[in-house]
Amino acid sequence: MGLSFDPDTVSLPVGHFIGGKLIAAEGAIEMRRPSDGKTYAASPVAGVDMVDHAVASAKAALKASNWGGVRPRERTRALQAWADLIEAEAETLARIEALCSTRPVGQLVAGDIAITAEQIRFFAEFADKEGSELVPTDDTSLGMIISEPYGVVGAITPWNFPISMAGWKLGPALAAGNAVVLKPSEMTPFSAVYMAELAVRAGLPAGLINVVLGDGPTTGTALTGHSEIAKVSFTGSTRAGSAIMENVARTGVKPMTLELGGKSPQIVFADTDLDKAATAIAGSVTFNAGQACVAGTRLIVERSVADRLTATILEKMKAVRPGPTWDDATQYSPVISERQRARVDGIVRAAIEAGGECLTGGCVMDSPGYFYEPTLIADVDQANPAIVEEIFGPVLTVQTFKTEDEALALSSHPTYGLASGLFTSDLSRTVRFARKLEAGTVWVNRYSRSRDHILPTGGYKRSGIGKDLGREAYLANRRTKSVLISL
Ligand code: NAD
Repeated sequence: MGLSFDPDTVSLPVGHFIGGKLIAAEGAIEMRRPSDGKTYAASPVAGVDMVDHAVASAKAALKASNWGGVRPRERTRALQAWADLIEAEAETLARIEALCSTRPVGQLVAGDIAITAEQIRFFAEFADKEGSELVPTDDTSLGMIISEPYGVVGAITPWNFPISMAGWKLGPALAAGNAVVLKPSEMTPFSAVYMAELAVRAGLPAGLINVVLGDGPTTGTALTGHSEIAKVSFTGSTRAGSAIMENVARTGVKPMTLELGGKSPQIVFADTDLDKAATAIAGSVTFNAGQACVAGTRLIVERSVADRLTATILEKMKAVRPGPTWDDATQYSPVISERQRARVDGIVRAAIEAGGECLTGGCVMDSPGYFYEPTLIADVDQANPAIVEEIFGPVLTVQTFKTEDEALALSSHPTYGLASGLFTSDLSRTVRFARKLEAGTVWVNRYSRSRDHILPTGGYKRSGIGKDLGREAYLANRRTKSVLISL
């Protein structure tokens, strides 16, 4: 059995979490389990008043606890206690997450949850190590750059890795001395509510983390446009990122971190270990059924080895074991919703109509859940819909090149620049490509993050503004004030 569980026995925290309490509200959005399509809950939608209540609670908590002004080590210790409790409660958290989302329970406890707890600890350590500085001036004055928290940060997260995405936002914002009002995706909100409950149980001041449930147009717009939200931190699609920029510009200027979409290339040269490359490439497009912002969905391979590499990738893509997210043997996830699966299928069809050759997959799986066959499409040009669109599903395209220049030209995407992969054993070429690739991340001879949380992540082009993770994410949650004293 291991971590497997019966999905009908899980109790969910359905409600907003404000001021340290769960606030039940009438359900408005019907929710279905991606693994079997069964309706399991209805999520409330917070309107302007509920968002206002959450922001007011955050402000009151900051004032009552002096969270931004206490000895920084106290923030470190409190956040570490929260991380410890998240790990202690990992199985309960994993059941909530696996029930609602596309994340298999077998990947959650040692994966998403352990990583998130460690990232919270990582950010907690910045609290008493990064700070203000004295700067060089002449000896008649004293110059200082004082670093301060913003106040209340408004965070919005997507559905693809609900726990991890909440951790990316909450960890640095809280360590930096802010309070947070978080709006998780309307499709997967309950793990964030449980994380907020755990924070209070671990001793964090009630009201420091508030979670409002709801959709983008109602709840998201109320949050990003709220006059007391000092900074917006968003992860999601480029389309929603644009809408948020517009709303923020209309309602008042404020700083924003935007982590948006991607369409990342993986470039393979003949001089690499092809079997290792195939494992990394197939893994990146089947992991979470391709629903990852950094999924390496565009294979660009040297022509002389294209057939060999493609055949190996095909084998590996077909070998993944689909199953419900509550079965701990499951390797391959469903797509989040029927609507998203229809979108994936629509783009695949358009890609084939535009001349692409479907080498495997290209159809929904025979299952009550929203599963889609791992799909490989060859013969695509730069204008093919499967190249242009972020599909956010298990679809890999194959393009070939003869020269480095061709490889670079194919790798550049008109819209996105989130991540990229390069497989080669040539050191000089590695450096040339690392300099020229237009992406916020370059992975060489691998295609995945490590557990080195110090490496920031973020996009070039319309893949975003600013960074999550790393020192940059901590600093993005502080603002600086220049002080000059005449002596
Ligand atoms: P989405 O943009 O549809 O929704 C993301 C969040 O934004 C949700 O909580 C949603 O309710 C909210 N939202 C939507 N419209 C809004 C609006 N006008 N105002 C305020 N909030 C709004 O994205 P999704 O479908 O949930 O997630 C998939 C997308 O997220 C993909 O494009 C993926 O690449 C991106 N993503 C990016 C990263 C990264 O680090 N760059 C990480 C994960 C996911």
